[in-house]
Amino acid sequence: MNTIKIQEHASNPQKTVGIYCHIPFCLKKCAYCDFASFSCLGEEKITDYFKALYQEMKNFAAVNIDSVRPVVDTIYFGGGTPSSVAAEHIEKSLLLLREVFVIKDEAEITIEINPGTLTKEKASHYKKAGINRISIGLQAWQDFLLKILGRVHSQSDFIKSMEILKSTGFENISVDVMVGLPGQKLFDVIETLTALMVFSPTHLSCYSLILEPGTPMANWVEAGQLNLPDEDEEREMHWAVDAFLKEQGYAHYEISSYCKPGYQSRHNLKYWELASYLGFGLGAHGYYNGRRYGNTTKLSQYIDRLTAGESPGSLEPLMEAQEMMSEWMFLGLRKLAGIREADFIARFGQSYFVSYGEVIKPLIADGLLQWDGVDLKLTPRGQDFANQVFMAFL
Ligand code: SF4
Repeated sequence: MNTIKIQEHASNPQKTVGIYCHIPFCLKKCAYCDFASFSCLGEEKITDYFKALYQEMKNFAAVNIDSVRPVVDTIYFGGGTPSSVAAEHIEKSLLLLREVFVIKDEAEITIEINPGTLTKEKASHYKKAGINRISIGLQAWQDFLLKILGRVHSQSDFIKSMEILKSTGFENISVDVMVGLPGQKLFDVIETLTALMVFSPTHLSCYSLILEPGTPMANWVEAGQLNLPDEDEEREMHWAVDAFLKEQGYAHYEISSYCKPGYQSRHNLKYWELASYLGFGLGAHGYYNGRRYGNTTKLSQYIDRLTAGESPGSLEPLMEAQEMMSEWMFLGLRKLAGIREADFIARFGQSYFVSYGEVIKPLIADGLLQWDGVDLKLTPRGQDFANQVFMAFL
């Protein structure tokens, strides 16, 4: 079994980790989605999946029985649509995690939900189980856009879900919105944000639509049945979102993320800061002790392997310093605050100008990166060409 083995860290025996749990079920597949998610599976299959998920957690405990129980400060139930399954599955997963790990009292515990799948009862169960952060997928306020996206919900479902969340006492709510959608105009984007302000979300994630080959939406666009806004329009939407949210008191802290003061996603920061996290579930990834690992993305294989007492994933080789530096750069530059030179030196023993001077200097000269003597960060123009900047560090 190649389940990850915790090595105690001499200077920090109770190393804190984040935990990601993947719940790969949705009511219906959206037209643009290529995530590891499945719709129309019966309760029996869902129960089998959760049995396998619990087994994966137990295997972790068995392999690490002699170690100090790792301390967890963030847990994230992502999907898929975790709110599409019975709340008992989520509660049981959390109970098991509490047996295997030491969950900090102030841990950030997030669940992704989609409108149309949340009931008052489910929200109460989440609250009692200790979930204290909600990430809800709205995407767009307009029903005609939700239809094009193939979402199962309508604007009124979103309003109902927000009312349920607020009345259950959830304060820390993040909302996902999308720009660059077929048929979407700048006016629609502003209308979406204006409508959202009524609910005072603490966090917004704003993504540009990415057409994934093979999805129905990619096929419709290719066949000329749908037209996407052009690149200039898409960028105009991005900058309109940026101006609107800043005006409303949100900080732009990561390329797609905005928050009210103190409400950054502590879990997602772990990904961008190359901090340790463990992933459980179908297709889940983890990073621990300098090694990455990833689980199979085939549902039956995931269940069968765990039922047979085998590991559902594979460990990657120990990350070389060069690879770690490269990840540190392109993940860290996603944060608008950039990367502090002193942090890089503390981690790698040398400045990023020593490791990447030949990469950084031309990017600064092209106006894509800026250096203020302490931090290296994207310029506004760099945000428009972020992928080009990140690729330069690969
Ligand atoms: S809800 Fe999310 S994970 Fe599920 S099909 Fe839609 S985009 Fe994919």
